Amino acid sequence: MKSIAQIAAQLQGYDPQALSADAVNDFLARLVAPVAETEQVGIFDALDRVLARDIVSPVSVPPHDNSAMDGYAFDGAQLKPSELLTLDVVGTALAGKAWQGSVGPGQCVKIMTGAIMPAGTDTVVPQEFIQPCGEGRMAVPPKLLQPGDNRRLKGEDLREGQPALAKGARLTPAACGLIASLGLESVEVHRRLRVAYFSTGDEILSLGEPPREGAVYDSNRYTVFGLLKRLGCEVIDMGVVRDDPALLEAAFSDAAAKADAIITSGGVSVGEADYTKAMMKKLGDVAFWKIAMRPGRPMAVGRIGNAILFGLPGNPVAVMVTFLAFVRPALLRMMGSTETQPPLLKARSAEPIRKKAGRTEYQRGLVTTAADGSLQARTTGNQGSGVLSSMVQSNGLIVLHHAQGNIAVGDEVDVMMFDGAI
Ligand code: AMP
Ligand code: MG
Repeated sequence: MKSIAQIAAQLQGYDPQALSADAVNDFLARLVAPVAETEQVGIFDALDRVLARDIVSPVSVPPHDNSAMDGYAFDGAQLKPSELLTLDVVGTALAGKAWQGSVGPGQCVKIMTGAIMPAGTDTVVPQEFIQPCGEGRMAVPPKLLQPGDNRRLKGEDLREGQPALAKGARLTPAACGLIASLGLESVEVHRRLRVAYFSTGDEILSLGEPPREGAVYDSNRYTVFGLLKRLGCEVIDMGVVRDDPALLEAAFSDAAAKADAIITSGGVSVGEADYTKAMMKKLGDVAFWKIAMRPGRPMAVGRIGNAILFGLPGNPVAVMVTFLAFVRPALLRMMGSTETQPPLLKARSAEPIRKKAGRTEYQRGLVTTAADGSLQARTTGNQGSGVLSSMVQSNGLIVLHHAQGNIAVGDEVDVMMFDGAI
């Protein structure tokens, strides 16, 4: 377990007062490690969990050569370039009920999709292609088929003994289906990550409290809750903690004892006149950063006890952006996932965007398909760091990278789509 100072010493040009977004992710990747504990879960409970062990296929899928179509199976070597191939129908092969016996020259078997290819056959002519030619016979027209057509080969999906899924894979519906196709009833996954969250600030009201001048209702608690749920974390909601040293100390200690990670919002800005930062410093090994980004900028990161601390800024959009850009990848790594960074899409900007080089800017964007079929992105109105309505209207973040300057209409921009993240 490396200290903040040790990690900082490994990084080229580490400057906590002006950290690039890339440097933040680099730092966090060195700070966090996957949880070691694993558990065995049934496939219905495996969705979104992270595999803790490679899955080697115990069987071949499919287990036999079988038909991809309803039609007639025969030996494709008999196909002729320009003549009808007339065959006797000698039986029927059903899915789950194989036709026993061997198919000889001049013969075929009526076959259903998924039925095992009878011995002596390698090709299926689909039902709709054949020409009838009397009772018990049918004809295959020339030029329609190649030998081997419409046959699925044994093991073409997965071969016995081959890796089917690698550890670190987050289990999607497709992956759950694939595991089930191997006949496996359960899988070993990392245990769920426990993440504690609380909001800080004397001006923050909990729901149910009467409005008060200068006070705002706590929204961060709900956005962070949703973001964590979407990741499949076990969320420990600790509410709003007032700006009181004893309360803050109790909250941090409690959170550190229960959780793998602690997320807070508020109280980490420069010149913040409250006890949040002081308490983080007192109880943990914590770095206070100014990140070259917008929205966002202040962030505290480190360890309190065995828990990783993410002290996010207070502004509601800054919370979501820093979560998506930094916390989410770090939590995914802690969950054991090997895929931590979302892929970025390219879209054409439908408008000019002012951008200062030397910081990463995240604009709330709406990506749509333009008339010519290409993707275009526009921003969703007021980009103030406290404005959640423009966040609600967006379906991704337009990521304007560190070195980028102003964007003109039609310029290509990167977009981090929310997909299942928000
Ligand atoms: P801070 O980072 O503490 O200076 O807070 C920045 C801004 O975010 C202030 O306007 C706060 O009122 C607001 N803010 C802080 N925490 C929350 C919260 N949990 N919900 C809504 N707004 C908040
Ligand atoms: Mg504050």
